[in-house]
Amino acid sequence: MTIGAPTAFIRTSGCPLRCTYCDTPQAFEQGEQMGIDAILAKVAKLECRHVCLTGGEPLAQKDSTKLLERLLDQGYHVVLETNGAMPLDEMPCVENLTISMDIKCPSSGESGKMIFENIEILGPTDQLKFIVSDDADYEYAKEIIAKYEPKCEVIFTPVGGKEMKGLAEKVLKDRLNARVLPQLHKFIWGDEDNR
Ligand code: SF4
Repeated sequence: MTIGAPTAFIRTSGCPLRCTYCDTPQAFEQGEQMGIDAILAKVAKLECRHVCLTGGEPLAQKDSTKLLERLLDQGYHVVLETNGAMPLDEMPCVENLTISMDIKCPSSGESGKMIFENIEILGPTDQLKFIVSDDADYEYAKEIIAKYEPKCEVIFTPVGGKEMKGLAEKVLKDRLNARVLPQLHKFIWGDEDNR
């Protein structure tokens, strides 16, 4: 878990989903073309040990796996944030890669596009993340956990990233083996700045 640790973010453009609460719509089409070497050079200047490859949806870019492998080869710890709708069977299984995969709940409007087989691929150093908007989302997340019994860490985050209390109380009441986490950057930099 790297929350709070200085991290270089690579935000790729493009995403096949359109979640109702998406807070990075600028990633659907904006951005500039960059080659892998140029990205690596920019990351090196930031002098962070951790790199987060996010989007949009990083795996929607055809060379994202090559970029990921180059980052891993250079010794970075990489967190790959992926939306649950992309196959993960070609991901390298190495210690310094953390796959952080969403399962989209019903309020996203995209829950029908999830690839549930991906959950089996996630191991102890990976994360399964539910963005929860309401009771229906929470109950849905509980059903998915009971059905697929993930071996990885399970994370609940409220839509908007800040209103933690109701969600934390539900998780405690239900004795769920899950972490309730905010989107830390929203506390530090506010809603306008999506790092
Ligand atoms: S997967 Fe992420 S980037 Fe894509 S629409 Fe949903 S919230 Fe936005």
